[in-house]
Order: sequence, then structure tokens, then C-alpha cells
Amino acid sequence: MILNDILDLSKLDAGKVVLETTDFKPHELIHEVIDLLQHKAREKQITLSVHIDPGLPEVVNGDPHRLRQVLLNLISNAVKFTEQGSVSVSVQTISSRDGIELNCSIQDTGIGIAEKDKAHIFEQFNQADESMTRRFGGTGLGLAICKAIVEQMQGCLTFDSILGKGSTFSFTVLLDHPQDSDHFASSESLLLGLDEAVDDKINDVKSNSVSKSSSELVLDSSVNVLLVEDNPVNQDVIRMMLAKMGVQIQVMNNGQEAVDYFHRHARHNFDVILMDCQMPEMDGYQATEALLALWESQNNATAIPIIALTASTSSEDRNYCFTVGMDDYLSKPLNLETLFAMLLRWLPKKKIRVASDKPAVTPASDYVQDRQETGNNKNSSSQTKLLSQLFDVEALTELQSMMGDRFPEMVSRYRQNSFRLVNKMPRLSVNEPHVLRELLHSLKGSSAALAATRLTRLCQTMEDQLNGEVIPQRVLEDIKQIRKLVLVTVQVLKKTTEEAKLESV
Ligand code: ADP
Repeated sequence: MILNDILDLSKLDAGKVVLETTDFKPHELIHEVIDLLQHKAREKQITLSVHIDPGLPEVVNGDPHRLRQVLLNLISNAVKFTEQGSVSVSVQTISSRDGIELNCSIQDTGIGIAEKDKAHIFEQFNQADESMTRRFGGTGLGLAICKAIVEQMQGCLTFDSILGKGSTFSFTVLLDHPQDSDHFASSESLLLGLDEAVDDKINDVKSNSVSKSSSELVLDSSVNVLLVEDNPVNQDVIRMMLAKMGVQIQVMNNGQEAVDYFHRHARHNFDVILMDCQMPEMDGYQATEALLALWESQNNATAIPIIALTASTSSEDRNYCFTVGMDDYLSKPLNLETLFAMLLRWLPKKKIRVASDKPAVTPASDYVQDRQETGNNKNSSSQTKLLSQLFDVEALTELQSMMGDRFPEMVSRYRQNSFRLVNKMPRLSVNEPHVLRELLHSLKGSSAALAATRLTRLCQTMEDQLNGEVIPQRVLEDIKQIRKLVLVTVQVLKKTTEEAKLESV
């Protein structure tokens, strides 16, 4: 082992190592290294987490083995020299015409490095002090090799450390854009069973544009709706739908907030409550029970209809809404027309004013016909393939036209939210299925709101398998898939946003 290291280092030092140039997937590489060391970290009861800049390209070109060697060395050092606390890996990226600069930092809360040792840390065979070898093993060659590798990759390796507090090792390397520029599309497509490239398919969202204006769906402006929903993307969509209908809306983030509000305000002017079922702190079922109990104590004088918003398709879950006393339910993703119809059903009659001669709700049959016509005219089943495999194209189009200028903002919120959620997933330990369920549920909710049907389905399938004490192997595999699906979904969404922007110029 030591001999190999010495040989390796002397070759690197002499500039005799020719770096590989091959296309590889940096996310996979990083996660592989983390997975490899996760076991050790758990054993020591320290958390090992990773945050990867969502902008990191799916495929890059460079030497994956050398990059793995550097990451493995630095992260395993961090784990090795940390007795309690955490090791956090962060990967930032700057992409330019010249290449992709990767900026990694590995921060630990470990033993740190004394001032006197700092100057020598990259020297060969150096270990901070003699007792280290006895305590931690190692050869004192790792950092010297890492430094030589990153320098050969046109980068540098630096560190900061406070004795007793911890260390941060940072390095940059310059990678290339993938040689096979189709790589992303083709490999992702294969993986997902999607056989069309992303780029050319986006126009369909625009050209499929729904001609139906929703502006005729207007209600009296005194209508006041309370939305209880934790998911910011869903909040956005529903807020916009209600704004389109001309009604007032107030948003609360979970059941507890709503219950607290009604406890404080015996008098209120809400006409109806849209209540998400699954929320943190207090879910919609518990909140409904608490509200009904409260209103009963007030002789029902202030009772208002509660409409469940549920992402579940199971009849059991729907029935549960009625069991706890909700008045009706709407399945997510909501669309403007079903929401409108639901409000018509539950609002006080005096507040209903439909501002058009046209039927407020377009008959479903018209809709279907419309859809078929669009398809036939365009005769472009292959073009719509990718989009229609990922999205309910019609719902997405409607959403886009409804959100108007605010669509890009919503996409970016969705993007951030989704990456935040999927980045947490690989860090979970196998005995945290409940945490994974929550993450999946949230991702499912916002994906459904954006009509991202494929992702919604995958979340649901994974969620359904999380009933035991541990996360099954199949779901662990799916975690890798879901990240990729989020990437493609977000990419397509971003493209639609850019195209829409261009169009409006
Ligand atoms: P080794 O194989 O001994 O780990 P390295 O070259 O990787 O050799 O590290 C050299 C020395 O630098 C280590 O022995 C240790 O004293 C110090 N060191 C490296 N990483 C850390 C860290 N994250 N925290 C504290 N000390 C570290």
C-alpha cells in the first residue's frame, strides 16, 4: 500500500501521470464516495452530509479515478480525525465556455491542526504528530498525493483549521464539458425510458397553448378563502388560481396555525377552508377535528366548510377525510375548473357571481376534443413524447398561461425546493423511512402542482413501499433515480420558462 503510494506520488511529482479524459457523472462519483464512508461515519456516530450545487452538470469530462482518490482521501481524513459532530461536504461549480470548475470543501468538527504543524501538512510522510500514527494509522502520504493531483487538474488544495475545533479542506479542479454532447440526453433518456432528447421538444408546451381563457371563472370579490398548505409551490399555484377567480385568499402553513388562528378569532370572515391533508406539526385531519370541536363549542355559529386537498388516490384516504368531518375533497393536482366547481358547491349562494354568459366550467367533453384536435393538427407524437412522458402537458400549459409572469419564479422555487429535498435523501440512514416519506410527500405535492406526473408517480410508488422499519433496498436504488428524474424535470421546466420569456420579448 505504502509502496504504491510512493510510486504514485513520485510519478505525479515528475508530471509523468497522464490524466484520463473520459465522460463521467460527477454526482454518481461523489455519492459513491460518500456511500463508501457513510458506514464509518455512522459507526463513530458523526453525521456525514453532502450538498451539491444543483448547477453541477450531469456529465463532465476528466479523470474520475483521480478525482475519486482526492475526495476519498480528504473525506476519509475528515471522518478519521473527527470524534463527534459532523463532516459536511459541499460541491460548488462554475461552468463556463472553458470548462467546469469544481470547488469542493470538506468541513469537519474534528481535532483540528496545530499552528506549528500547518506549514508541513502537505509534506510527504508528514503526520501532525508522531502519536497520530499510533492513534489513527495512515501513511502521511495522502495529502501530498491529493495536492499533486489537483494541481495537475489545474486547481489547488488549501485548508483552514483551528486546533480542537475542526478543519476545512478545499480544492478546485478544472473539468471539461462532456465530449459526447448528447450524452446527457441519451443516458438520461435510456435510464428513464425516454427516447427523445430534451431540447427540441419544448416548443410543444407553447404551441399546445390552451386557447381557453380562464378569465370567465370569476367569483364575488368578497369571497375569502383560507388555504392551509405547507408546500410553497402548491401555495403559489392555488393562490394564483384564486386570484384569477377574483377572490381573497389567506395562507397558513400548517394545521396548528389554523387552529391557533380560530382560537384567537371567534369572529372571522372566511367562507371556505382548503385544507391540505399531510402537513408537518399538525396535519389536516387533526386540524379538522380540532376546528370542529371548537366550532361545536361555539354552537357551530362560525363553522365553515372544509375541503380536503389530498395527493392520495386511495379511496381509503378519501373516506378518512369524511370520517374526520371534512365536507368534500379535491385531488391534487388541482385545476382551475375543478377548484372553481368546488367553490361553487360550497360558497354561500349570495356570493356567487359568474362574470360571463359562458358556462363557468368547460364541459370535460370539450376538453377531450380539444386535446385530440391539438394532437392531430400537429401530428407530432414524437415531438411531444418527452414532455408528455414527464408532464401532463395540458395541465402544465394551463398553469403556465395562468401564472404568466410569475411562472419562472414558481419554477425556480420548485427547483430549489426539489433539490433541497432530493439532496437530503441519500444522507438518510436506512432506519429513517418516516423521514424519507416526508421528503417524498413534499416532493410529490409540488411535482403534482406543476403537473410533473412522472415524478409524482415515482414519489408515490416509493412512498408506498415505506411502511416498514427500514428503507427497503429497492427504494434505496430509487433514490438515485429520483435525483435524475428531478434533474430532467427541472431542466425541461427551465427550458419552457426561457422559451416563454423569449416569446414575450
Ligand atoms: P494520513 O495517511 O496519515 O492520513 P495525510 O497526508 O492524508 O496522511 O494526512 C497527513 C496528516 O494531516 C494526518 O496524519 C493528520 O495529522 C493531518 N490531517 C489531515 N486531515 C486532517 C483533518 N481533517 N483533521 C485533522 N488533521 C488532519
